[in-house]
Parts: sequence; structure tokens; C-alpha cells
Amino acid sequence: MRMKQEEQYKESIPALLFWYEYNARILPWREDLTPYHVWISEIMLQQTRVEAVRSYYYRFLTEFPTVASVAEAPEDRLVKLWEGLGYYSRVRNIAKAAKVLCERYDGNLPADYTLLRSLPGIGDYTAGAIASIAFGIPVPAVDGNVLRVFARVTGYRGDIRSDSFKKQVGEQLRKALSEYAKMPSDPGRFNQAVMDIGATVCIPNGKPHCEQCPLSHMCAAFSEGLTAEIPAKRAVKERQAEKRTVLLLCDGERVLLHRRPAKGLLAGMWEFPGISGHVTYAGAKQAAAAILAAAGGAEHITPADLHAKRLPDSRHIFSHVEWEMRGYRIDVPQENAAPQAGEYLWASPREIREEHGVASAFRAYREHLPKESNLLN
Ligand code: SF4
Repeated sequence: MRMKQEEQYKESIPALLFWYEYNARILPWREDLTPYHVWISEIMLQQTRVEAVRSYYYRFLTEFPTVASVAEAPEDRLVKLWEGLGYYSRVRNIAKAAKVLCERYDGNLPADYTLLRSLPGIGDYTAGAIASIAFGIPVPAVDGNVLRVFARVTGYRGDIRSDSFKKQVGEQLRKALSEYAKMPSDPGRFNQAVMDIGATVCIPNGKPHCEQCPLSHMCAAFSEGLTAEIPAKRAVKERQAEKRTVLLLCDGERVLLHRRPAKGLLAGMWEFPGISGHVTYAGAKQAAAAILAAAGGAEHITPADLHAKRLPDSRHIFSHVEWEMRGYRIDVPQENAAPQAGEYLWASPREIREEHGVASAFRAYREHLPKESNLLN
């Protein structure tokens, strides 16, 4: 007979805390539970693998050791340090939140779930993770791992992403944690234990390692042989393919960059300019002349003034869309290169490398920047 749900949530706490004592993953952000460090690590870990985060975490905290240093940093520098991690709105929200923290809380994170939740870029999960791990507040941090583990434990056959299931898990865990907390560190350790169980034992893809799981004695999916059916599979939405032509406009020393719109895909990031669709050499030169005119003061440049060279095709996969890119390098006579204007910027390879974060979707084209040995910068 299945245990009552309420008991399953309650009993999972001591079982997971005991397991965590011996099986916790050793992670850099667990060595120092300073609220600022917990915050940065949790934001970096959103939709990003632990291994990918390590070096970014060290680099970010070395350059920005305090909330105040983030608040004062130029946004381009923050974005540059984030280059390659993706989902750049995360770092922009860190910058916004750091300013709020300096204005209202003297550069500290508040020890309060609701106040944390009100900061830019901090949702239910992150507020729960910071509140519990850094401050010992008995609140859950419900993400996909937690939903999967408790769907299996309780034998839930519906859609685990539904608001109703999220609410149910959040409420049950909040109640169980408030009643349990024996030590101030328990809520944070419990939330980290579920993260680790979800990452290493009750894994998302492939067969879960139930024989190693401290919850197997109470797990409905395990006892009823339903681990392959729970969580219920979602219909996978097909990714939309989008053709783009990328133009590497070079004046011999510098390359023209374009700032993407403040909202939408790669919001506010630098990119190599381009147009939608695939075009021929003639089309690329025509588009380049139009872009140079838009960049300011180069209306006199015609496609005939430009030389185009085809670059290799490249592909970049985002969560909902896939870019199929065709590239051209366009050589612009230096004396005709326009001064930058508006959302355009001429930048040297060194400036691109050190100062301006060009979205990693364009990584393949960065290899075709002018060689620095030829440059005077
Ligand atoms: S017993 Fe198996 S299915 Fe159940 S929570 Fe543990 S690993 Fe997941």
C-alpha cells in the first residue's frame, strides 16, 4: 500500500539529509555559503550544466568580489564575462538586482524569501535556493529535478510542468520543511540533496538508479515498476529552422558590430550584422552597403565598392529556433568605412575579445576576424 503523500514528503527530509551527508557533490559554491556567492552560482546554474559553470563562477567572483562591484561594472564587461554561458538576460538582471541591493540593502542580499523574490531575475526557485542555502529559511527550491523526483515518489502520472503540480509540491515541501527543521542548515542541505539526487540518482534521461536511492522504500514509481512512465513524456515541439546571412564587414583593421534589440533572442548582445534568408554574393554586397549606410555616413558606398568572400556555413541551436547561417566576409575600403552610429560599432579583434561580448551563436565567424599580427592596435 502506498504511503500517504504528506508522510512521503515528511519522511523524505531525514532520508535525504542522511544520504547527503555521505554523497553530496563537491562543488565550489558549496564551500562558501556567502549569500552573494549562492546567488551568483544559482543564476549561473539555471539551464546550464554544473561543469560549464565552474570556471565562469571563479572568473566572475574574482573580478567582481562584492555586490557593489557588480553594481558599478559596465554592462558590456559583465556580458563579456558571461560570454558562452548563454541566456544573457541572466547577467543583465544580476546587474539590475545589484543596483537595487546597493540602494536598498546596503549591498547585501535580504534574509527574506519575499524580498529576494522581488529582485530582478529571481524567481520562486532561486529565491527558495538563496533563502534556504544562505539563510536557513525553511522554504523549498522547486525546479525540474524536484518535480521529477517527487512525481516518481508520489506516483504522479500527469504533466509535472503544470502549475497545479508545481504548487502541490511547493506547498507540501514548505509544510514539511517548516515542521522538520532541526538545524538551521537543514532547509538548504535538503534542497541541495534533492538537486543532487535528481542529478545523479533519479536522473532525467535513462534509467534511474533506484538501488542507490534513499527514497526507494517510499517510492511509488519504483515499487509499481513505473519509473519509465513517470514523469509523463511531453510532446516535443519541433524547432523552427531560420536561414540567416551573416556579414563580417572588415575595414582591414576593424569589424562592424551590431547591437541586437533590447528584447527577444540574444537581447542587447553584440552580433555580426546580417539579414534573414540566404543570399548570393551580389545579395550580400547589397545588404552590406545598406548596413554601412545605416551605420552612419556611408551612403556613398555602393555594392561595387565592396569585395565579398564566402565563409563556411554554420548552425546554432537555441531552445525554440535553429539558425542556419551562411557567412560572407565583406572587405570595405578603409577610407570608406563609416563612423559608427546608433546600434553599430567598429571594433578591433582585441576589443571584441576583451571588451564586447559577441553572442556565441557567431563563434564560427569570430575565427575569420582580421589577423591581429597585421594590425596596429
Ligand atoms: S527510487 Fe528510483 S524512481 Fe524513486 S525517487 Fe529514487 S531513483 Fe527516483
